[in-house]
Amino acid sequence: MRIDCDIIKDLLPLYVEGLASEKSKKAVEEHIEECEDCNKIYREMKKPEPQVRYDREPAESFRKYVKREKRKLGIKAALVTAVIIFAVGAVRVFVIGGAFGALLWDSATAEIFEDTDAGHYSRYMGKEAEKEYVKKWDMDESIFPEKITEKMRVTDYKMVYYDPWDAQYLSYLVVEYDEEAYHEETERLREYASTEYIGYYGAEGFSQDCTLLAVEADPCYGFVYALETGKREIVYVELIFCNYFYDLDYQERIPEEYLPIGFDATRDNPYRKEMLGE
Ligand SMILES: [Zn+2]
Repeated sequence: MRIDCDIIKDLLPLYVEGLASEKSKKAVEEHIEECEDCNKIYREMKKPEPQVRYDREPAESFRKYVKREKRKLGIKAALVTAVIIFAVGAVRVFVIGGAFGALLWDSATAEIFEDTDAGHYSRYMGKEAEKEYVKKWDMDESIFPEKITEKMRVTDYKMVYYDPWDAQYLSYLVVEYDEEAYHEETERLREYASTEYIGYYGAEGFSQDCTLLAVEADPCYGFVYALETGKREIVYVELIFCNYFYDLDYQERIPEEYLPIGFDATRDNPYRKEMLGE
């Protein structure tokens, strides 16, 4: 008996969950062996939902970190440091003067650098990255692909770099994978030992259309993460900064849905204030 596709579609959820009766089970199996449409629906359904495995605590709580840093530094050390910095600065300006003055001026007027050519990916990521991009505050970037391969169709890419005094980075890579590469990649990301991230810089989670696959969060330096945003599409994002806020207009440089809901890394963000006890 050839059963109608609509009936099979109704039965599929039960079948996938292992709740169908023997008779229904047999009917579904016979049908999907013959019917490519229903087979396709079946394969989509049995695909496991991606889930983040939180294996690690974040480096340490932000509050603890700040306390420790303050203690370590101490007022005395801070004063000594300030005097040294001032003295070195003065020597530079007054003794070396001229040419160096121009250099100092340059760094004071640093420009925001942006590149949207995915062909340049290896300049900014992985083992062959240029020196400004090798160690982004020691954040673990291994959530991002090591390099762009033939199995990946890059549909969007951006790398932003800004270094007015502390280097900061914002980058995202949107990739469509073929079926096989997609499974490989989600497996790889599922193996990643993610950290908790909720509450960091106000982060509350992600938009409904984005499923978090892996995340590396640091109380001081920001986030690296991967999102599943559609059929076989993965978005990789990194938001890396120092001093607990971005100096650049990050909101203007990345689609809102790729940011964690509630994420606030502006200069006066409440998270920073709270943790610094201001
Ligand atoms: Zn069918």
